[in-house]
Amino acid sequence: MALRNIYERGEEILSKKCKPVKEITPRIIQLCEDMVETMKEADGVGLAAPQVGVMKRVFVAMPHVESEDEEVVGKVYYMINPEITYTEGEQESSEGCLSVPGYMGLVDRPMKIGVKAMGLDGKVKEYEFEGFEATVMCHENDHLNGILYSDIAKDFMTIEEYTEKLGALKEEQENSKLKESMTDVSCTNEE
Ligand SMILES: [Zn+2]
Repeated sequence: MALRNIYERGEEILSKKCKPVKEITPRIIQLCEDMVETMKEADGVGLAAPQVGVMKRVFVAMPHVESEDEEVVGKVYYMINPEITYTEGEQESSEGCLSVPGYMGLVDRPMKIGVKAMGLDGKVKEYEFEGFEATVMCHENDHLNGILYSDIAKDFMTIEEYTEKLGALKEEQENSKLKESMTDVSCTNEE
């Protein structure tokens, strides 16, 4: 296994549509293994082939960062020629990307998706993902079509701005809680 270089926003390859994998060759297996190593090293939860400069419809993902089901924590998915078969509901996701370091964005994503993809054994499997896992799979699948989350985010900011915004939001919530409890106090006084 070997670490690969991660391409960053501005590189042409990240905006191109990738080509399907025709068969699972030792080269494809090597690519997948290198991608997993690169993803883990960079503390990512997903990595798509174009991010390491390969124009193939392949991504790897490790979306179960926390789960009550200990067996799935750290599980790696190998998705070759993936297809999203259905989407359901919606959610607003906070996303970052190894190819867009230092930034965060808010993206509208489906809450639940179905994915059909080939694994390293060449067999096609069907999956269902929900919540954060669904976001990760949609984000990585977008890479294969030349789409970065920053292209479709409704809000895009630096991590510093994002942290500030979160802080401001928290303060706002605390203030409104305070106001609520003050209202309660005045109600009690009136009685
Ligand atoms: Zn990404």
